[in-house]
Parts: sequence; structure tokens; C-alpha cells
Amino acid sequence: MNIHEYQGKEVLQSFGVKVPNGYVAYTVDEAVEAAEKLGTSVTVVKAQIHAGGRGKAGGVKVAKNLEEVRTYAEEILGKTLVTHQTGPEGKEVKRLLIEEGCDIKKEYYIGVVLDRATSRVVMMGSEEGGTEIEEVAAATPEKIFKEVIDPVVGLMPYQARRLAFNMNIPDELLGKAVKFMTGLYQAFVEKDCSIAEINPLVTTGDGEVLALDAKLNFDDNALYRQKDVLEYRDLDEEDEKEIEASKYDLSYVALDGNIGCMVNGAGLAMSTMDIIKHYGGEPANFLDVGGGATAEKVTEAFKIILSDKNVKGIFVNIFGGIMKCDVIAEGVVEATKQVGLNLPLVVRLEGTNVDLGKKILNESGLNIIPADSMADGAEKIVTLVKEA
Ligand code: ADP
Ligand code: MG
Repeated sequence: MNIHEYQGKEVLQSFGVKVPNGYVAYTVDEAVEAAEKLGTSVTVVKAQIHAGGRGKAGGVKVAKNLEEVRTYAEEILGKTLVTHQTGPEGKEVKRLLIEEGCDIKKEYYIGVVLDRATSRVVMMGSEEGGTEIEEVAAATPEKIFKEVIDPVVGLMPYQARRLAFNMNIPDELLGKAVKFMTGLYQAFVEKDCSIAEINPLVTTGDGEVLALDAKLNFDDNALYRQKDVLEYRDLDEEDEKEIEASKYDLSYVALDGNIGCMVNGAGLAMSTMDIIKHYGGEPANFLDVGGGATAEKVTEAFKIILSDKNVKGIFVNIFGGIMKCDVIAEGVVEATKQVGLNLPLVVRLEGTNVDLGKKILNESGLNIIPADSMADGAEKIVTLVKEA
């Protein structure tokens, strides 16, 4: 789960990480009020969407008086911001962060991630802040420094000092940088983050070390024990189909293609996507209905696929082990009864109760194209979608 910058800053602050003063605003009037309350000579108006790259896209504006705050708030609120992270359709701005303007001396990058290669949490830092870290990694990888953290002892002070030193943070600010990193690491661990990225961390004219941006992502599997984090959830920022899928405990991820996939098992779902691509098609989603899915769950899953306007054809690829083929067939038939079906549907069924499943589909009157194998099914659906 993803949260907004201002929420991330609240979390970080509670772990002793310094952030500029600021308030969230949902309307232009609230934005001006917030700026009045801050009373700083420079105020920054920042679009709050679940995507980075806002600055370049016109979503971060520096205002020198209340009039400018009003102008920028009017301009940004309600605007669809297109950044390199939103995709071409962009995201509508519904909230602003009105923040005290900082006297930035230098911008740095700092991030905490789980490194699957070492199975450890890693803190990464660079003096190349403000720009995308992917670009730094490509152009000047020697400017990114890493500290691999032992989970038993956590981030050691010497590691934080070494990282700050490598990042060329001035000596007199090393103490503050260490405190910052310690707080960031604690927040990451205690809040079950999957990513905590501060880009930029800044040093200021009056000798502070601040988080000027904050991107925190959380491990969905840990949200049951992070009730306060769950409070931050903003459904406006999430894909409607994914929200619907999460209600039924389906593993569903919306993608950009036009072939809807209904599959059981994450591995089979991945290889189904691969084989569709192999035949020149593009999957519209990843969907794993799971092992013990009921007909109701399958119905909902199929309805979610059908509700995707980009979908031009559907490929059902089931290998029934724990999952029974007849349950899948019932779900498909029920969903199409409820919402209709006028798209090509290719079905490959194999495994437990396969004959019963095929019988249910055959007797349903639906126009189903059967497939003998996964490859056969993928080839058929790709061809049908191309012809459509
Ligand atoms: P994004 O990463 O989405 O572009 P940031 O929060 O990183 O958004 O802001 C982009 C840039 O705007 C920062 O690198 C910084 O230079 C400037 N900026 C952001 N917040 C402030 C602030 N409170 N005071 C001064 N400058 C800011
Ligand atoms: Mg940023």
C-alpha cells in the first residue's frame, strides 16, 4: 500500500526524522489558511498524488505570498498531473500539501529497501539528490553507497556515519544525519515498509537535515497489524478493479494490455502472461483466483475482468489441483449470466473434475473456444483479439 507524501512525513516525524512544517489542504481556501498559519515568507504548494516526478510536471510551486498560494492552489487542485510515474492518463490532484519553503543548501538521496539478493534491509544514499535514482544508478553508479543492515542489531551508528560520510554530508551535520537515518530505519522496520525513499533529503542554510519528500510503501501482508497505517489509505489513488478484487481476496493486478486472464496459481498466472506475450499479445491483468476459490469468488473475478474496458478477449487457463474445474466453469457461467459476454473466450481446463467442467461450459450455450494446451489457448486468444 502506498500513502501520500504528507502522511509519510507524519510517520517519519513520529520517529524523530525532521520534516518542514506543513498542512494538508483539500480546497483553495484551506490552502491559503494553511499558508497563513505557517506564516513563512516562502510557501511551497505541493500536489499530493501517489506518484513521484511532480516537480517536473508542474505539481510543486514556490509561492512568495498568500496571493501566489491562492493562484497555485487554484492551478494545481483538480488538475490531472502527468508525471513519468502516473502513465499517460495522469492522476487528478485532490489534495495539496502546503509547506514551509526551505532554504536548501544541497539535495541528497536516501532510500531503504529490502534487498532480495542478501535477504537484508539495505540503506542507500547518494549526494545526487533531487534527480531520479535510476538515472544516477545508470550514469554514475559509483555515487550510490549501500549499507546492508543486520536485522539482529539494526542500523549501527558507525554504518550511518559511514553512509553520511560517503554521501559527502558536511562534517558538522553528521550527527543530525545519523539521527535522521536511525529514525528512517526504525520507521521502515516498525511500520512494515517495503520502500522508504527520501528524495531529496536536504541540508539547509540554518544547519538542519530535513526530509523534503517522502515516499513510503507498505507490505500489504502486514497491514493487519498496522491499523494506523491503514487509516491513511486513499482509495481515490487505487485502481477500482484492484479494490474490488481485494474485497474477495483475489490476487489481481491491472495491466495495460487487452487480454484478460483468469488463472489459478501465481506461477501459472505468470507463465500465462509470458506465453501471451510470446504469441504477440498483451495481458490486461494478472489474476490468481487461488487454490480454494468458491464459485462466488470465481464469478466476481470474471466480472472484474469483464468490467475492464480495455479487455478485448479472455483466456481462462486452469490447472485444477485443489481448485476444481467445475467450480471454475460454474463461476464463468454465472458471471456471464449476470453481466453478459460479447468477447471471445478461450478456455483451457485440465485436472480435477475436468470433464464435469467442460460439460458445464458446453451446456451453457456460451460461445467458448476450447484449447488443448496452454500454448494452443494463448495462440488462439491472441489471434482472435488481433482479428477483432
Ligand atoms: P517530486 O519528487 O514528486 O518531484 P519533491 O517533493 O521531491 O517532488 O519536490 C521536487 C523539488 O521541489 C525538490 O527536489 C525541491 O527542490 C523542491 N521542493 C520541494 N519541497 C520544497 C520545500 N518545502 N521548500 C523548498 N523547495 C522544495
Ligand atoms: Mg522527490
